[in-house]
Amino acid sequence: MPDTQSALVWFRRDLRVTDHSALALALAAHARVWCAFVFDTAILDPLRGEVPAADRRVEFIRESVIELDQALRGLASGLIVRHGKAVELIPALAQELGVTAVYANHDYEPLAIERDRDVAEALGHVGRRWITCKDQVVFEKDEIVTAAAGFFSVFTPYKRAWLKRLTPADLAPRASGAGHPAPAPVPKRLDLPIPELRALGFAPTNLAKLGIAPGMAGAARTFDDFLERIDHYRERRDFPAVKGPSYLSVHLRFGTLSIRSVARAAMERIVAGPNPGADTWLSELIWRDFYAQILSHRPDVAERAFRPAYDAIRFEEGPKADALFAAWCTGQTGYPLVDAAMHQINQTGYMHNRLRMVVASFLVKDLGIDWRRGEAYFARHLNDFDLASNNGGWQWAASSGCDAQPYFRIFNPTIQSEKFDPGGRFIRRYLPALAGLPDTAIHAPEKLDAQLQRRYGCVIGEDYPYPIVEHAAARERTLERYAVVKREPE
Ligand SMILES: Cc1cc2nc3c(=O)[nH]c(=O)nc-3n(C[C@H](O)[C@H](O)[C@H](O)COP(=O)(O)OP(=O)(O)OC[C@H]3O[C@@H](n4cnc5c(N)ncnc54)[C@H](O)[C@@H]3O)c2cc1C
Repeated sequence: MPDTQSALVWFRRDLRVTDHSALALALAAHARVWCAFVFDTAILDPLRGEVPAADRRVEFIRESVIELDQALRGLASGLIVRHGKAVELIPALAQELGVTAVYANHDYEPLAIERDRDVAEALGHVGRRWITCKDQVVFEKDEIVTAAAGFFSVFTPYKRAWLKRLTPADLAPRASGAGHPAPAPVPKRLDLPIPELRALGFAPTNLAKLGIAPGMAGAARTFDDFLERIDHYRERRDFPAVKGPSYLSVHLRFGTLSIRSVARAAMERIVAGPNPGADTWLSELIWRDFYAQILSHRPDVAERAFRPAYDAIRFEEGPKADALFAAWCTGQTGYPLVDAAMHQINQTGYMHNRLRMVVASFLVKDLGIDWRRGEAYFARHLNDFDLASNNGGWQWAASSGCDAQPYFRIFNPTIQSEKFDPGGRFIRRYLPALAGLPDTAIHAPEKLDAQLQRRYGCVIGEDYPYPIVEHAAARERTLERYAVVKREPE
């Protein structure tokens, strides 16, 4: 017989103690609440096959789980950690502990929804309840709808409705962590050590060397640092060589800090007086909610264009397209800003937002390659990979998405470079071969005559590739390729 006084909270992409919706809900309803995390082989095993078994995200999660366990032990509690199939382990744990219910925060990705459905079903078979709640976003699913009760597919009216609906209660911290009832200690018989990275099938990465600090402490430090700069966010955020953005995306991805806490901090500044920095930053957080609700309403975007007409576009395929794609992946396109950006993602797992737009546009509209290939590459390499935001970003760049870039607006990668990395500081950081070039030549080094190339120590074709495609010609080809969508009603 399940014990109605006890429950289990399953942590997933919410690796923190404070302001945790599911934990707060469980603690309010049950006297004894255990906490668990599963290194789910359904997620980890495919990663091992697809990328070198060094994956920064796995290391980030493991470090965060260690910290979460320690924080819970500090409250005389602890985390039950397992490695295996979550769909089997969670119902088994629920039975073993004799709990009446399992609590978790909502996840909006199609595979996670399927997994949660399976867990709910398995729990139902053994007479336990499955209780979930919102945590990852401020507003979810149908909370923000149009006057006709449909979902918003244009950002500006969505943002307006989002702000109109917002009350202090939406951003108030949920009752968990220090000062609130503590979860129960891990029963001795269930208290196993947290698996080593190698036991999970992964090798260590350069996470620490990069200065990416995982866990709640890392999140708090990163956020404190950003709060010093938030007032300047609007004017600094577009320049990849400048410390403009927050670098919080990986923490928001794995929930090492709550979305409510960061949105609250931005709101406090906005309310205190005109603050374009905080205002613009809050807009970015609203974009995150926007894409999450798009995925909830249109899970098919994970495979198809949001605007169906765009699936008629024929992208390049075959060995030539594969070679162009490989050059893009490895940062050898001959367009310095694109190449530097691809080195950034390959070396660090992060890419600046402006550069995500530039390289995505370049892949689709200069190389004519299907956005889904770029999306999949980002999914494998980004530390902050989030299906909703990644898909939204790629479909924006490919013009197939909601509120996307019009198809005839095609970034010129050289002009983007001159505008957003004028002194070539970012390019020099990631492309040492170009470091000796003057600012005026760094954005299109192939235009320098051979003698000057030698003088500056960068011979095109030897030290750095020629552009693999000519932008003006590629632009024309793209306009022809996209002609199939011209008649699509707006
Ligand atoms: C092609 C493409 C792919 C992208 N893939 C992802 C992804 O997989 N995961 C991801 O979190 N973001 C993605 N983004 C959005 C954005 O680039 C990153 O959120 C941002 O660069 C992360 O850095 P930051 O935390 O310093 O951002 P900041 O500028 O400090 O923004 C603060 C937070 O707002 C959110 N945010 C910012 N911009 C966006 C946006 N355009 N859409 C949705 N949320 C946003 C993020 O949670 C971010 O951490 C993508 C954008 C593009 C164009």
